[in-house]
Amino acid sequence: MITPRINLLDFDADQMAAYVAGLNEKPFRAKQLMQWIHQRGVSNINEMSDLAKSFRANLIDKAEIAPLPVIKDELANDGTRKWLLDVGAGNAVESVFIPEDDRGTLCISSQAGCAVNCRFCSTGHQGFSRNLTSGEIIGQLWFAEHLLRNEPGAVRRIETYPTPGWEHTGRVISNVVMMGMGEPLLNYDNVVSALRLMLDDRAYGLSRRRVTVSTSGVVPMIDRLAQDCPVALAVSLHAPNDALRDQLVPLNQKYPLRELLAACERYLPFAPRDFLTFEYCMLDGVNDSDVQAKELVRLLANIKCKINLIPFNPFPESGLKRSPPQRVQAFANILLDSGMVATVRKTRGDDIAAACGQLAGDVIDRTRVRERAVHDNEIIQPITWLNRLDD
Ligand code: SAH
Ligand code: SF4
Repeated sequence: MITPRINLLDFDADQMAAYVAGLNEKPFRAKQLMQWIHQRGVSNINEMSDLAKSFRANLIDKAEIAPLPVIKDELANDGTRKWLLDVGAGNAVESVFIPEDDRGTLCISSQAGCAVNCRFCSTGHQGFSRNLTSGEIIGQLWFAEHLLRNEPGAVRRIETYPTPGWEHTGRVISNVVMMGMGEPLLNYDNVVSALRLMLDDRAYGLSRRRVTVSTSGVVPMIDRLAQDCPVALAVSLHAPNDALRDQLVPLNQKYPLRELLAACERYLPFAPRDFLTFEYCMLDGVNDSDVQAKELVRLLANIKCKINLIPFNPFPESGLKRSPPQRVQAFANILLDSGMVATVRKTRGDDIAAACGQLAGDVIDRTRVRERAVHDNEIIQPITWLNRLDD
């Protein structure tokens, strides 16, 4: 029987050290491997020239560097780029890169589908397929980072001593947001293992304030994240009271607002900045009235936060509509007039459907071609909701 190869992308630094020790190799070999894989983007073990030949041969036998296969690679007019990735069994997830003048944000997925089933989310409507492994999560960053780096006009390698550096001439990933498909805190161990690699200087070396976990409110895991890996936290709120949030985000029935906000307050001392972000998806006639804006002000009065108003990205099965821009502005004004920090997220990648779950939904749903044509051409004006999180 052939034993499946270990995916070296699955290991954070400690796990790599343990693996290398198990192969009777010296500890510094683990560091070398981390650098070859994550810093230099090498997937061919034979190219790892400073590893002993016998070690390489042993590794080739047992291990591999295996990111998710790419099904589709799309580039929007504004530079937003989206990859659809195959996770097997007819399922797919997506990663989206959003370049801006002063940063490049990669949005990555944590699960194939999602069990939380929020009313307004097309990933939720697809149901839950499976958790991604930590290798499949960090593999999204590994793939995008090295692909973009090696593209002409992106960044240029400079041979500085003692370590070579990168001159940023164009696109490069400076921020990661876990806002793709899935609920990251329901795949906790694998997500934390991937987050550790994002922060690790031997891998991607991102600062904690440039890595954001977005959650629908898995209260016990918010507390664990504060201890294990306190990156920036964005909480998907979407309603100013339990009655409405119970309907929009069913997880609220398990962890109601009082408990969720208490967990947010407990997280704040660990957060990389002195505020949290609340996401609020603007749904026409559902959660966008003046009364609800005032209720939101009261709800969040005692917590240091920024509120990100997200224009709803409609999809046919939702039966919901995007709030008109004037309504979003009026809602924002009430928050701003009461001294809160609020922003309206701008749309990106409109021409390539760069939105959570939309493209993956198309692939899964191969049979519904007619409906999809309507979805692509008439109804959907897709957006992403990823930019400027750390403003
Ligand atoms: N499961 C996590 C992270 C993934 S969803 C969470 O819910 O936070 C990322 C963000 O996109 C969340 O704030 C979510 O509420 C929002 N979102 C999902 N579907 C959307 C849609 N159709 N239009 C606008 N925002 C949406
Ligand atoms: Fe899951 Fe987040 Fe979508 Fe809700 S919004 S169904 S938690 S991915």
